[in-house]
Amino acid sequence: MKRLPALIAAMLMLGSCALPVLPAGEDSSQETSYRAGEYRGVAQGYAGELTAFVTLTDSHIDAIRVPDCPETEGIGSVAVEQLPGLIVANQTFAVDVVAGATATSRALIEAAKQAVSASGADPAPLLEPPAQPVRPSLRAEVHEADLIVVGAGGAGLTAALAAAQSGPELRIVLLEKNAVPGGNTLLAGGGINAAASAVQQKAGVEDGFEEMLSDSLAVSGAQEGGLLETLAGDSAAVIDWLAEAGMPLEQLAQLPGSSAERAHLPENAEPVGKFLIDGLTGAVRRAGVEILCGTRASELLTDEEGRISGVIAESPGVRHLYTGGAVILATGGFAANDKLCGSYHTLLRGLDTVSSAAAQGDGIAMAQELGAATADMAEIVIEPTVHRGSGLIVPRALREGGALLVNRSGERFADELADDAKLSEALLAQPGRCGWLIFGEGLLHLLPSALEERVLSGAGPEKLSRAAGLPAETLEETISDRNAELPEAADEDGNEPHPARLEGELYALEVAPGVKTTLGGLAITPEAEVLGAAGEPIPGLYAAGEVTGGVHGAAALPGNELTGLLVFGRRAGQNAAGWLSAQEERQENSDV
Ligand SMILES: Cc1cc2nc3c(=O)[nH]c(=O)nc-3n(C[C@H](O)[C@H](O)[C@H](O)COP(=O)(O)OP(=O)(O)OC[C@H]3O[C@@H](n4cnc5c(N)ncnc54)[C@H](O)[C@@H]3O)c2cc1C
Repeated sequence: MKRLPALIAAMLMLGSCALPVLPAGEDSSQETSYRAGEYRGVAQGYAGELTAFVTLTDSHIDAIRVPDCPETEGIGSVAVEQLPGLIVANQTFAVDVVAGATATSRALIEAAKQAVSASGADPAPLLEPPAQPVRPSLRAEVHEADLIVVGAGGAGLTAALAAAQSGPELRIVLLEKNAVPGGNTLLAGGGINAAASAVQQKAGVEDGFEEMLSDSLAVSGAQEGGLLETLAGDSAAVIDWLAEAGMPLEQLAQLPGSSAERAHLPENAEPVGKFLIDGLTGAVRRAGVEILCGTRASELLTDEEGRISGVIAESPGVRHLYTGGAVILATGGFAANDKLCGSYHTLLRGLDTVSSAAAQGDGIAMAQELGAATADMAEIVIEPTVHRGSGLIVPRALREGGALLVNRSGERFADELADDAKLSEALLAQPGRCGWLIFGEGLLHLLPSALEERVLSGAGPEKLSRAAGLPAETLEETISDRNAELPEAADEDGNEPHPARLEGELYALEVAPGVKTTLGGLAITPEAEVLGAAGEPIPGLYAAGEVTGGVHGAAALPGNELTGLLVFGRRAGQNAAGWLSAQEERQENSDV
């Protein structure tokens, strides 16, 4: 943990003498020799052809420039700004792609490789990762703020808006490491649970705090700390708050596990996550909060009394110090951190994830450096059937509609409708830790178009087995055993057999379990204060959303995760503003 005054001095020194970084090739023992000059390479980017010019000296890559960037401003353009410096500093193309701008990152690397080939040199040695990665030299910048919110997903945007409403005079900055706001919130469908809301009352839906709490506890297991009570208790108020901020949610739906229609949705059938992110981003900007994308927070700072005093962050070429008396962590979970997930369950090692790649647990690690406590870290949610290759979730409705799940030997091995954890375990025990979903034409409409494009097909089991690379004889036997369990035709009332027999054109998708979300994280109070190891709040530190733990226990009631990030995000913003004003008063009193 670093203290502020010494750090400002160090940062300012860094600003006046930026560290020179030698291209690794200069002191490398393995000298490479190039034909010096500038060479051109072209590759397909996200929005068009991307042309890179690479300048080579006789021993190393000297510069990479992309004079006309066809990529999206603020997304792909971030990769174009960031990657050339990293490649030159490390003398390798094996650098990390920029989160949120994968296609542009890959195109830039490919174009630069082509340029090296055009010089007559072999780019293969440049594909080795560096022994000791170096960062390009950084300029230092110091910024004064009051409140620093870290992470511009649903929780961070909510917190920033609530803080700006509670303290219009506050200087608030919102740091986001990706090129655009959104995080996992952008991927959420479903709806936002709330009990006894004005929308429910208008629609005549009978529901209340007790019912929502009891449905939530039925899936989470017994919970201490009062967090679920707070979530259910504030739920109707956040729906009203969103409506006041220009985000009305006037449609209702009943999600699995809920005893009433309590999932609130936008009227235009837009996915609720995108609706929230678009609405909140606009409201936050209108409230005067600066959203700084491409800026990754890496460290929290405290003063001599252990109170929060600032954040260290990095953006391309710049190391920032934001001073401020309060921080709200809203960095999401750690579903994309294979090592961390695998440390809680070895079975999860090497699994794909359907989460945003940004979910690395940054906020948890930063707060742990200050001695923060965690809760429920081993509660990790798995999606059993994720399409191999695209990473897209195959909807459960396909299995409910009668899709068969077979292994690579073409055999059934589990009840397709078993709960997610059991089915995932069964799939992970199969050869290749995967399986194939086999289904007929009648279920095709259940697939999102991106999956429909990827489905394999064949007229009957034999042709399908060829398309999917499955053993024909066993697959045929599995399918005929299944058909034998079903009537051959409609019953006397004209009802077709359910599930439908597998006949005619058949379809297949290869699937494996993937990590979806993490329910564990920083331990908080109902006021969204982060708790230290001794159970006392860390002064000035707040957290909300998937970065926190102990809210949902062993499982979240569908629709409750979004409610949770809104309820605790709003409380974090309001309480951080209150804390800052109390601190100012304390300062004024001590000055008198
Ligand atoms: C595919 C999918 C579908 C889902 N569907 C539903 C659903 O239907 N209903 C539901 O209730 N829940 C759903 N969830 C869960 C829910 O979306 C998440 O739990 C919730 O959105 C998390 O919100 P958040 O704001 O805490 O985190 P996020 O939305 O993930 O935002 C975190 C932000 O912090 C940024 N960040 C991370 N580290 C740093 C750093 N060091 N510096 C700066 N910025 C940083 C990230 O880039 C990101 O933008 C779903 C999750 C997934 C993956």
